[in-house]
Order: sequence, then C-alpha cells, then structure tokens
Amino acid sequence: MTRVLDGNAVATSIRDGLSTSIDSLGEQGVTPGLATVLMSDDPSSETYVSMKQRDCEEVGINGIHVEIDVEAPAEELLSTIAELNTDPAVNGILVQLPLPDHVDKRAVLQAIDPMKDVDGFHPENVGLLVAGEPRYKPCTPHGVQKLLEAADVDPDGADAVIVGRSDIVGKPLANLLFQKQQGGNATVTVCHSHTDDLAAKTSAADIVVAAAGVPNLIDETMLAEGATVIDVGVNAVDADTEKGYRLTGDVDFERAKSVADVITPVPGGVGPMTRAMLLYNTVKAAGLQHDISVDLP
Ligand code: NDP
Repeated sequence: MTRVLDGNAVATSIRDGLSTSIDSLGEQGVTPGLATVLMSDDPSSETYVSMKQRDCEEVGINGIHVEIDVEAPAEELLSTIAELNTDPAVNGILVQLPLPDHVDKRAVLQAIDPMKDVDGFHPENVGLLVAGEPRYKPCTPHGVQKLLEAADVDPDGADAVIVGRSDIVGKPLANLLFQKQQGGNATVTVCHSHTDDLAAKTSAADIVVAAAGVPNLIDETMLAEGATVIDVGVNAVDADTEKGYRLTGDVDFERAKSVADVITPVPGGVGPMTRAMLLYNTVKAAGLQHDISVDLP
C-alpha cells in the first residue's frame, strides 16, 4: 500500500511546535521578527510573500513587509537591507526571488547579515552547511529532510538520487543527505540536465527527489519497486480551469504511485514544508541573536 505523505499535516505539527518555542521566547521578552522584501510585480511572487506574512501572523512572528518598485535602482534594495540588518526588531530577512534583471542577485544575498539570512543562501551559511555545522538549513531541503523523518524513512545507508543541482534545492539537499549526522548518511547522486541516462540512476535509488522544474519528468518506469519519491517541482501547466492552468510536480504522481512505497503529492507535499521551515529559521534566528537557547520542533 503506497503511503502518500501529507505535507500540510507535517507542516502543521512543526508550526504547532514553533508556537511553543515562540511562547518561551515571549516569556523572555522576545518576539521573533521576519522582514520580507519584494521587488517584483510578478503575481506569484506577490502571492508567495503574502502567504509568508500570513504564516508569521498565525504563529506569532512579527511580520514586516517592504516593497520596492521593480524599476528602482539596485541601491534602493541594498540600502533597505542595510537598514533591516541593523533593526533589532528584525531577526530574519527574506528577499523574494527572482529579482529584476538589473539587480545583481549575488550582491543582494551577500548584503544580508548572515545571522539574519533565514533562507540560508549567504556564502557564510552555505559554507557552514557544507562543513556539516549548519546555522540555517535552506527551507526547501530542510523541509524534505523533515518530511522523510516524519515518514520514518531514514536516509542512513540509502541510495538517494536528487534530480536538480540548483543552489536553493539540489546542492543544499545533497549536503544534508550525505552529512555524517542524523537525517543524513545517504549515498547521494546529484543529476542535472547533462546527466547521461537519468532513468538508470533513478531506477537504482531507494530515495528519489525530483527538483528539476520539468512536469512529469519521472514516472514508474524510472523508479525501483518500493522507492520513496519526493516531488519538489511546482510547474504551472495549461488546463481548463478558472486560472487557465493547474499546478503539477516533476513526478507523474498516478503512475509513480503504482511502484513507490512513499510519495509526496503536488500540491500539498513539499510546498507547505518550505513555508514551515522559514518560520523555524526565524525562531532559531531570534534565539541566536538574543543568546537564548530555544527548543525547536
Ligand atoms: P532550477 O531551474 O534552478 O534548477 C533546475 C535543475 O534541474 C537544474 O540543475 C537543471 O540542470 C536540472 N534539470 C532540468 N531539466 C532536467 C532534466 N530534463 N533532467 C535532469 N535534470 C534537469 O530550479 P529550482 O531548483 O529553483 O526549482 C526546481 C523545481 O522546484 C521548480 O519546479 C520549482 O518551482 C520547484 N520549487 C519548489 C519549492 C517548494 O517549496 N515546493 C521551492 C523551490 C523550488 P542544469 O543545472 O544542468 O541546468
């Protein structure tokens, strides 16, 4: 019987745990604060940011939102970040990506104080992750790790194949899964668009994580019987709906379900976990910045 992992349920239990952590910070006079910065007029970016703000409100994090005109010079974004870096009410800063073409993403991510970099994209935090001493695990890979844990799928000794090598998903997830620590110890293969015979790699894996951004890239012919399949992909494909599209993952869910032991749906799998782990990092950041040891779920 295939188990379909309910990302919403796991995310809710993490958020419940975070409420307790936030209460204990509150007893010491600290309310975690997350600043979201939006420099885009893309409706999906606007939606993502407003969902993050709503999440903050629901768990008791102080949400601060800054919008910058999409045509403003990059300096305006950098000076906003500089102000947030020194604002004691702000523990975490999230700059919603993608940024307009005239803004150097790398310079922006490096401008964020690494202690407030709750996305975990600053080179200092990337370095700590690679060294096996993560300060802030990037939200999506951390969410995948937590989902595996919730499903009692231990990567220890497993062959894991990650399809995708981006800085925000594939690379940090590979680092999490092969680290010599709990939730790691897998033997990891990272595939990408130049990989020869992708199916040979995925069909030999115990755990397949699809993060390529290609709808229905993975089906049952590319999976081993009994595999765990985590679908990170979120792709809008044309459909006869009110919006004219529907969201689908990188895995052909119905077909993959016929061989997988454990599988995540899209939507309702990794997506809610990404949002929960952003809250997690913000609470952790508040604890670190106030030198308070906080129990985290
Ligand atoms: P990127 O476009 O940055 O990276 C995609 C990766 O997939 C690249 O490494 C690329 O290879 C590889 N790839 C593309 N096509 C193929 C293919 N046919 N075979 C093998 N590898 C391939 O995407 P992201 O990492 O940012 O996102 C990946 C997906 O995850 C997207 O659908 C995105 O929307 C979704 N996402 C979902 C999140 C969530 O919370 N659920 C959060 C973040 C992302 P190469 O390096 O050679 O180009």
